[in-house]
Amino acid sequence: MEALLFPKLELPTVEVLGESKAYPINRIFCVGRNYAEHAKEMGVEVDREAPFYFLKSALSFVASGSTIPYPPGTSDYHYEMELVMAIGAPVFKADKFAAAKAIYAYGAGLDMTRRDLQLHARGKGRPWDLGKDFEQSAILAPLTLASRFGAVGPQRIALWVGDTVKQDARLADLVWLPVELVSHLSHYYHLQPGDLIYTGTPAGVGPVNPGDKIRGTIDGLTEVTLTIGKPE
Ligand code: MN
Repeated sequence: MEALLFPKLELPTVEVLGESKAYPINRIFCVGRNYAEHAKEMGVEVDREAPFYFLKSALSFVASGSTIPYPPGTSDYHYEMELVMAIGAPVFKADKFAAAKAIYAYGAGLDMTRRDLQLHARGKGRPWDLGKDFEQSAILAPLTLASRFGAVGPQRIALWVGDTVKQDARLADLVWLPVELVSHLSHYYHLQPGDLIYTGTPAGVGPVNPGDKIRGTIDGLTEVTLTIGKPE
């Protein structure tokens, strides 16, 4: 075996409620504009032809309950509360029925965003990476098995900063449902266990500052929490 110049990076893992084994995280897909009211507040329209995506590195994962520093390079750091899907089986060119079988678990997540950098890139027609794919930007609570969560629809999805509710919607407001997203993505990627899909955020996104405590809930799932520390 060849010697390594430095230690291999290990995939991060997330806990699964009621299971003794953790879920290793591979790729993190994120869906843009998947709630009509959020698209409106961003000054754009939902694309009803097809969903669109951006990715985050698995290394951007942070466990719920963490305190993280206010990130560099931004003065408009935003929360986005999201339902997250965890893929549990290989799936390629799947219809909705095959897609449903590949969804192993759900979790409550935060797609933390450097909004000023994202909007600057958007305005110039550039990729969103600086605004979206940065260290400690993908927060995720322990997962709940899909079989226990049941059908996606009536559940409330909400987010508080301190005691103030900022986002408050229903999963029924999703433009593209989880099975539709998995089916669609599977026509472009060989999805596999370890792939997460952040399904987009409802209206009410906004900035946070050092000292803020964020709490996000989805009925039937473990809540996600995050504390914002001082910049490094
Ligand atoms: Mn998002």
